[in-house]
Amino acid sequence: MTDAAVAFRDELVGRGLLVATGVDGLYGRGEQFEAVVEAVDRLVVEAARADAPTVLRFPPVMPRWVFERTDYLRSFPNLTGAVQTFAGDDKAHAALLAELEGGGDWSTHLEPAGVVLCPAACHPLYPMLTGRQPEGGRYFDVYGYCFRHEPAIDPARMQAFRMHEIVYVGDPDGAQAHRDRWVDRGLELLGGLGLAVEAVVANDPFFGRVGRMLAANQRDEALKLEVVTPVVAEGPTAIMSANCHRDHFGIPFAIESSTGEVAHSACVGFGMERITLALLHTHGLDAAAWPAAVRSTLWP
Ligand code: AMP
Ligand code: ZN
Repeated sequence: MTDAAVAFRDELVGRGLLVATGVDGLYGRGEQFEAVVEAVDRLVVEAARADAPTVLRFPPVMPRWVFERTDYLRSFPNLTGAVQTFAGDDKAHAALLAELEGGGDWSTHLEPAGVVLCPAACHPLYPMLTGRQPEGGRYFDVYGYCFRHEPAIDPARMQAFRMHEIVYVGDPDGAQAHRDRWVDRGLELLGGLGLAVEAVVANDPFFGRVGRMLAANQRDEALKLEVVTPVVAEGPTAIMSANCHRDHFGIPFAIESSTGEVAHSACVGFGMERITLALLHTHGLDAAAWPAAVRSTLWP
């Protein structure tokens, strides 16, 4: 696995598809890579048209209080990224610089900046939905960079990557239907690009002992489905996920369905880098030489 991942990563970097930064999981993107991301993204937008979603874009950082309420720290403390800054005086600045010059840990001189890196594109959305939702619920299209501290050699496991999500907020049936509909749409969209895809029941990598119980529960209730395909890892890799959150966001952000119950939500997330990597892995590193049917779907 590691050898294959190293070889794939080296090829991607060698061809300028990705730009190495010296940190595992952190890359620049080349023009050809972005051309594929953008083409796939147009297909996602097209597939979402039936939902007539409200389009919103958030920065890749979000308020700390929102992060606290999503309960991310309980489930994924190890993936967290929190922003720090310097808030001292001249004297403290001198101490910071002395630490830096001495090769010490200058970050101990920083303080929390009140913002964290978004771990999922949909998280900044929920606090603006407090209150009653219209009948039939609402659909949103959010797209942005996410951060997860999971440095890996496998280029499909990045620390910073983009998720394009279509989110539903409303009643329980609507949330379930959204999730199921998007598994079908995802299979069609991604299978239509010549990827060998299948939908599987999955679980999030919840942290620790309590996390193992949460993961088992999530699986038992089939709350998370993934569309997977071979990339470079031994097993298949998730390139799209469809999650039923139930009232996980409805409760902390006081979101109500049209009838005044706690709102349920569901989101589908397309992993834009992973889809692009799956295409490069399946069809070859030169997109100009991809099968005509795939090219005409991506670039009609
Ligand atoms: P999740 O919120 O974990 O279900 O992630 C949604 C989608 O984002 C997944 O289906 C992947 O395609 C993508 N994704 C998750 N983690 C990573 C990562 N570390 N690097 C690249 N893509 C990721
Ligand atoms: Zn989401």
